Amino acid sequence: MLREAIYHRPKNNWCYAYDRQTVHVRIRTKRGDAERVTLLHGDKYNWHEIGHETTEMRVFAQDALFDYWQAEVRPAFRRLKYGFRLQAGRETLWLNEQGFHEQEPENPYLYFEYPFLNPADVFEPPAWVKDAVFYQIFPERFANGDPSNDPEGVLPWGGEPTPANFFGGDLQGVIDHLDHLERLGVNAIYFNPLFEATTNHKYDTEDYRKVDSHFGTNEKLKELVDACHARGIRVLLDAVFNHSGRTFAPFVDVLKKGQTSKYADWFHVRQFPLTVKEGIPTFDTFAFTEMMPKLNTENPDVQAYLLEVARYWIEEIGVDGWRLDVANEVDHRFWRKFRDVVKTAKPDAYILGEIWHDSLPWLSGDQFDAVMNYPLTEAILDFAVKGTRDGRQFADQLGSLLAAYPQQATEAAFNLLGSHDTARLLTLAGNDKRRVRLASAIQFTMPGTPCVYYGDEIGLDGGNDPGCRKCMEWDESKQDLELFGFFAGLTRLRRSHRALRDGSLRLLAAEPGRATLAYIREADGERFIVALNAGRRQAKLSLQATGEWSDALKGEPFRAERGKISVALPAYGFAVLKQG
Ligand code: CA
Repeated sequence: MLREAIYHRPKNNWCYAYDRQTVHVRIRTKRGDAERVTLLHGDKYNWHEIGHETTEMRVFAQDALFDYWQAEVRPAFRRLKYGFRLQAGRETLWLNEQGFHEQEPENPYLYFEYPFLNPADVFEPPAWVKDAVFYQIFPERFANGDPSNDPEGVLPWGGEPTPANFFGGDLQGVIDHLDHLERLGVNAIYFNPLFEATTNHKYDTEDYRKVDSHFGTNEKLKELVDACHARGIRVLLDAVFNHSGRTFAPFVDVLKKGQTSKYADWFHVRQFPLTVKEGIPTFDTFAFTEMMPKLNTENPDVQAYLLEVARYWIEEIGVDGWRLDVANEVDHRFWRKFRDVVKTAKPDAYILGEIWHDSLPWLSGDQFDAVMNYPLTEAILDFAVKGTRDGRQFADQLGSLLAAYPQQATEAAFNLLGSHDTARLLTLAGNDKRRVRLASAIQFTMPGTPCVYYGDEIGLDGGNDPGCRKCMEWDESKQDLELFGFFAGLTRLRRSHRALRDGSLRLLAAEPGRATLAYIREADGERFIVALNAGRRQAKLSLQATGEWSDALKGEPFRAERGKISVALPAYGFAVLKQG
């Protein structure tokens, strides 16, 4: 066995509490190298008298280079001492904190330790998240339900979006169309920012305590949240706490008074007066955007202000959580305080960070419940839409992601195929709706919560911002109702089967060089096979299975013969098969 490839550390995604009784232990080996890995574990204070146990580990994920093994243990006294026994052929190795051994180490004190399972440290994302299907609304472009609040110079609904124009979308428009969301079957909304700001996207907050007057009022938002809750739909708002807008009163004060402003320390000013020199502001901003000054979240007054904002919208208006803009550029200490305030206000509030990259430091239970899972987005798009990753490469990427986080983080991940920040799925797919359906079928059969970007369900297209922010199409003769029916079917399927939500995920066929892939999702005795063909030609998959199966979306029956099930898939086709 290649010792250099074997890796474990007794924390993070390698050894963690899954819930208040269960500890997950993981180890990495070179792919295909170890045949058997056994976890030796016992109580850290009583190894000899009580004796230690052994638990077989199983490969729960694989990527291009490694196998990842996992065992779940429920220590009687909530603490562990443990080591690993690795076997391949005639070779047996033991691993403890001191390294490798060719005989079983006699002294258990040199084993790894999981010191104590303190409930306060358990990472517990809200239970509802893994059962949710989200819908993202960019409020300026969803529906104009109240022309009386339209911005000056508003354009007729449906025109070409630009970075600066307005079409008059508002909260009343969302209230008017809740039937659409209910028919689609979604049960949570993520709103892009709703607070007072000067732009159409509202990421330049002017007043964190007030709904933008072009969208409505705080009372109108309360009405919307109540109407959503009455239908079992939860509501997530966008918190832009990394930076404010240029018209935010404290920043205006600093612009005016400079160093003598009592808000001078609310921002990160490198040099007074505030100005822009050769395109670079003299103060920290989002990117180099002068109109988005970065807030100093280390200042106690800024903290008190923002934390009160976080509390206000949950307690007074009833929202169910926050999506955090540019979350990885804000200090961790602030996010820990934020979590305490939010979870005190509503213990099952969802905290979703906007991070596009590896996010482990935010996903350990003390900061976020999830991040926007763009690495999965990329993997699905590469495989199903762009054709730049074959089935095996997609499976490998999936394996890396499963291994990267504690299991509960994967179960609460926010899985999207597009947003206000990316080109739309249909446009990326070159208007080929078969590829849209294929990518969405993967998204809806993955662990984590899927999110539909408004309009994708009826065939809206659009390139990168501002193209992806066009007005929602409400003329039914221009909506793709068949596509809507497809999305409603996926939502129904996922919501009615736990196996497709937090069931186990096991790859069934992932051969290099082929555009096909299959995986099994399983829970509570229910079993699904998801078979995918991302190729330009029809493909036939022969998959290991027994018994009777049926297409979960179309009802067509399948029967396994001689331990195999044969599935013919058209180009860019897929099947979700249910056992029984
Ligand atoms: Ca309006």
